[in-house]
Amino acid sequence: MQILSIPEKPLKKHVSIAAGEHLIGEFVGDPHGATLIVFGSVHGNEAGGALALQKAAKMLPAFLPKLRGRIYFLAGNTRAIAKSVRFIDADLNRHWTAENVHHNRADSPIRTKRAEDFEQTELLTILDNILKTAQAEVYALDLHSTSADGVPFATVGDTLRNRDFAQQFPITILLGIEEQLDGTILEYLNNLGAVTLGYEGGQHYAEQTVKNHEALCWLALVNSGILRREDLPDFEKHEENLKNVTGKPRIVEIRYRHAISEADDFKMELGFDNFRRVRRGEILANDRHGEIRANESGLILMPLYQKLGEDGFFLGREVAPVWLRLSGFLRRLKIAKLMRFLPGVRKSPFDDETLEINTRVARLFPLQIFHLFGFRKRRWHNDKLIVSRRKFDTKSPFVKRSAVSGEKY
Ligand SMILES: [Zn+2]
Repeated sequence: MQILSIPEKPLKKHVSIAAGEHLIGEFVGDPHGATLIVFGSVHGNEAGGALALQKAAKMLPAFLPKLRGRIYFLAGNTRAIAKSVRFIDADLNRHWTAENVHHNRADSPIRTKRAEDFEQTELLTILDNILKTAQAEVYALDLHSTSADGVPFATVGDTLRNRDFAQQFPITILLGIEEQLDGTILEYLNNLGAVTLGYEGGQHYAEQTVKNHEALCWLALVNSGILRREDLPDFEKHEENLKNVTGKPRIVEIRYRHAISEADDFKMELGFDNFRRVRRGEILANDRHGEIRANESGLILMPLYQKLGEDGFFLGREVAPVWLRLSGFLRRLKIAKLMRFLPGVRKSPFDDETLEINTRVARLFPLQIFHLFGFRKRRWHNDKLIVSRRKFDTKSPFVKRSAVSGEKY
């Protein structure tokens, strides 16, 4: 991967975005068509995202007569972008919890002074308006980059609609990471019914990262149906670009997240790239308690080589496409509705998409069974395992029932 020769954060000087100025571009062709929202630089030190959106926004006016939908390019954490830091007071990509969203709506009486609360209020105002006026499918992309060099990849919250969309791109897909993190901007939109795709486009300061982000945006315009393939002369060029940087696209399932806090004094061992194979027991990092070893063999993902962050690293495993097809097939059959009748399993009284599993009774079922049906998010409550899956797995709340595209799912 090509790294710019300017030593210090070379991309920073190209992105000039004032605090609170989120809208990089708005392009509305047919207002009845699909909506594509793309976020760049939700982490302020990841300049490549906003930069790519600025570049694409310059080109888009020429395509306006051909747009069969609506496009919104949004800068993420504008106050952090100005300082080229990941965030000011709180990670904006862990900020979208129900509580924060409630407090940070423009009409909420409860206001705090954290920079990211202002960011959230501004973004909510924009997003509310976009979603309120959507008349067909809503797609949301979030462009990120990583501190370590490595192959770009997508992070996909596990709904069948997300998977179907993601698999149209020549990219490596990470399943299950969204379910490990609370409060991401895409989780917020996913829960509202949007089709979402996060993209880690490469190293923070590499010029290639901007190209990858741009390519993804252009392909997303075609894959969302907003632009016809024949109306995008550079389609092949962008596709080629992603193929070249991705290599063979893989589907990897996240199995472990190593959560960290500042007090841990976490330090990754040197030399771990994304997708590097690790063996069980291998030393991956150190913190104030000592060595941290891989708890299972697999692939290492997003090792943390910067100071700020809550995720030390993730471990994952490659999934066979047949497994995905099987789970897609089963999920479409709605057999999951019958899972509540398994011994030791009952539906949560609070939420239709959540099951409570008495693990003393139900320990015969491996967790993979629940994965297969889309129940990924899990937490423990006494001796009960609580698993939830996402709403809007197969149906979009934005697509009118009469619309033909709605039948596709
Ligand atoms: Zn990021």
